Parts: sequence; C-alpha cells; structure tokens
Amino acid sequence: MTRKIKIYNTLSKKKEDFKPLVENHVGMYVCGPTVYGDPHLGHARPAITFDVVFRYLNHCNYKVRYVRNITDAGHLENDSDEGEDKISKKARLEQLEPMEIVQLYTKNYHKAMNELNCLSPSIEPRATGHIIEQIEMVKKILSNGYAYQVNGSVYLDVNKYNTKYPYGNLSGRNLDDTLEGTRKLDGQSEKKSNVDFAIWKRANPEHIMRWPSPWGEGFPGWHMECSAMSEKYLGKKFDIHGGGMDLVFPHHEAEITQSNACNNCDPVNFWMHNNMVTIDGKKMGKSLGNFINLEEFFDGSHTKLDKAYAPMIIRFFILQAHYRSTIDFSNEALQAAEKGFNKLLAAMETLQSLNSHKISSYNIKELEEKCYSAINDDFNTPILIANLFNGVKVINSVKDGNETLTETDLEKLKTLFNTFVTDILGFIPLQESNKNKLTNEVMDLVLKIRENAKKNKDFDTADLIRNELESFGVLIKDSREGSSWELKLNVE
Ligand code: ZN
Repeated sequence: MTRKIKIYNTLSKKKEDFKPLVENHVGMYVCGPTVYGDPHLGHARPAITFDVVFRYLNHCNYKVRYVRNITDAGHLENDSDEGEDKISKKARLEQLEPMEIVQLYTKNYHKAMNELNCLSPSIEPRATGHIIEQIEMVKKILSNGYAYQVNGSVYLDVNKYNTKYPYGNLSGRNLDDTLEGTRKLDGQSEKKSNVDFAIWKRANPEHIMRWPSPWGEGFPGWHMECSAMSEKYLGKKFDIHGGGMDLVFPHHEAEITQSNACNNCDPVNFWMHNNMVTIDGKKMGKSLGNFINLEEFFDGSHTKLDKAYAPMIIRFFILQAHYRSTIDFSNEALQAAEKGFNKLLAAMETLQSLNSHKISSYNIKELEEKCYSAINDDFNTPILIANLFNGVKVINSVKDGNETLTETDLEKLKTLFNTFVTDILGFIPLQESNKNKLTNEVMDLVLKIRENAKKNKDFDTADLIRNELESFGVLIKDSREGSSWELKLNVE
C-alpha cells in the first residue's frame, strides 16, 4: 500500500511530495489559541484539521512530535504592535489576574478539544514559560544586525532583512504591497519603517504582564513566541507548520523573518493553512450576533441554533469539507451532517453482524486503495468520506443479500472502517462521546471536593482522592492556578 503523501505547501503554492527532514520522524508546529475567551469554530477547525494530519502521520508509522502553543501574553489588540494585551484587557474588565483568565480559558479550550476527540499535542508550551528563550532570540537578531532598539522596544528592520532574504514569499506580499497596506508613519512612531514589527515591547506603566530584559521591563512581540518555542522543541528547521489562513500575514511571515534573521535558516519545510469558517454566509463576529462558541453548539443554547449539535457532528461537518475550502455553518447543513454521521456509524454496527459467503461480489481492496489515495492527496477528507459511504452501501447491500463478501473480505472491511473512521478521522459513537463529556463533568466535581477538603485542612481526604485516582491511572496535577487531571500515559 502506497503511503506517498502529497501536501499543499503555502510557500510554493503547489502540492509537493512529503518527505520528512529526518527519516521516520516528523516535527509539526501548530499555532494554538490566545486564551482570553471561550473556544469557538475558529478554534475547532485548525485543531480538527491538524488532529487528522497528526493521526494519519502516526498511522503511517512516523514518530510525530506535535507542538501546539498556548498564547498567554504578548498578543495585542488587532494583532498590531500597539494597544492593550488581549489577556490583560480581559483581566482588567473582569477584575481578575491575567493568569486567572489564562487558566479558565485554557481549561475550557482543553475541555472542548477533548469533546471534539482531538488528541493532545505532544508538547503544549506557553508563551510566558518561554520568556528567556524569546529574549535570547531577540539578542541574537540584534547582534546579527537585523533589528534596532528604540526607547526600550526592539523592532525587526524589515528593509535591512530584505537586502539579504526575500521578504514576503509566504504571503505573496512584497515590501511595497505591505507598505501600501499600512498607515503612513505619523511622526510619533518609533519605527524606521511601517513594515518593521516589534520583537520586544517596552511596557507602559499600566501594562501588567511584564518581564525584565536587557532593554528594560517589557514583553515579547506576539510573533516571537512561536519562533522561540518551535526552535526549542523542533529545532531550527522542522517539517510542518500549520495554522489558520488568517495567520499567513503578518504572523507566519514574521516567524520566517525572525528565524532567518536569528539563525540564517528558513525554519519550515511545509506550511499548511486551513481556510476560514462562516455562519449563514457571513463572517463570524461578536458584533454580528452570530458568534457561537463551541459549548453553545454542544448544548444548543444560542438563539441562532434550532437544536444542540453533538461535538462529533461538528467534527464530521468540518471534515466533510477539504481543509483548504471555506465552510459555511447553518442549521440545515448541520442537520444534514447529523444524518450522514448517524448513517455512517450505524453501518459500522451492522458490519459487525454480517454473515460471510463463499465468494465476494465486491472488490474491497479497490475501496481501500481509494481511501488511501484520498487521504494521501493533501488530506482530502471529503473524498475519503465519500468513499466510506460507498462502503456503507456495500454493507447495507450485504445485509439485504444483494452483495456478498468472504470471511477475509469482511475482516478487511472491518479493519478499513476502524482505521479510517475511528483512528484517522477520529469519529466515535455519540454514546461514547457523551461518556467523555460525563467523565469531564464528574472529574470537575471530584477536583472541587478535593479542593474543599484541602481548604478545610482535611488532608487525609485530599490524599485519599489523589491516591485512589492514581491507582487507576488518573493523575492530579496541582499548581498555583489550581488542580487539573490527566490520564497517565502508558510508557512503552
Ligand atoms: Zn503562532
């Protein structure tokens, strides 16, 4: 069976044969959420897209290190160099510590990803945990001469950079285009040119999230964290960098610029970008009243929704489109997806009880090849799902006696469905996904009870809960921000 994967590379604007830098190993970095609000469809799409990439690469026996960051500092309003930090602003409005905001929304993000059956990344680093690495990188860029310092801020000198490296290859915007798209320098700006961007920012007195640096107290520029953390965990050059299409410019263009300016090395082999999500044909936005977060989809509480849609339906709906196409959410489309999903899963159940025959009237091998060629062709999940529905037809025909399969072919078909439906596309029966949701809720309750026991100095009960959970593989992690839980991994 061929496992030749083709990936559309945003950098070359064409599909290329995937070949990892180190044989059998893949390093993949995906931009994660800025944790200042509840997770929504814009979070679900990249998470599900790259979950399928991660699952399929694992299926192909690659050893994959999947890094997805949590942005908990440095991301300013409107993705610009000016304005308030998104997390600090939310903290100010809600009268909480920034890290309380980070803790709450990271937890909500994990919960939603869990319900969508997205596997956890191998490493999930946080920007605030990597300030030292970011400062080191800024120092190197300065000493390489591609940045300048003004009043405690450090800016990347894009014009200077462009004399050695071609700027704008990823987004297809050259320097003139970029300049045209920005405001004229108003004389107040510290930057030499409008195309320059901050890699370190001086903190104004009211800015809460600040760290000491060689240039005074400040915080890293937003793009810096991904360059520093991808280098730390995946090396100066790695295989795949993913994210939403809205990140191509300026975020990913800036990442390339920073890495070249620091290491004289183009950091990424394959750039992959998922397209955007609309609702009823319109861009999703808080001011448009069509901003629906994932929990509202799952419980149907938003007024725009006719009913609740299980996380698996959202996952199925997203994967019914190719990741590079736009997706439009509507009640009608989701209800159609629900019917399709139920039909697929019902056929999988029927498959378990089919009777075999002496001869096969259908070529399972051919179906299998079609499924592999769909996923190998730039992770074409809609074609893959269409092929699986051909399999559904076969299953129902065998049940009705109109087709026949041998014992061996029946086993092959079961393996095919388990591999593609469960392992690669990550679909699980709705009852099972409800069980996951219930587990989350029960565990939240257990942690609350333990927290109360600790508050009342009943450490015996707190320890009992911890030890009993550990005995069946649930680890409790205590930190300053509170407790969380995870399943103990079986170390090979
Ligand atoms: Zn990023």
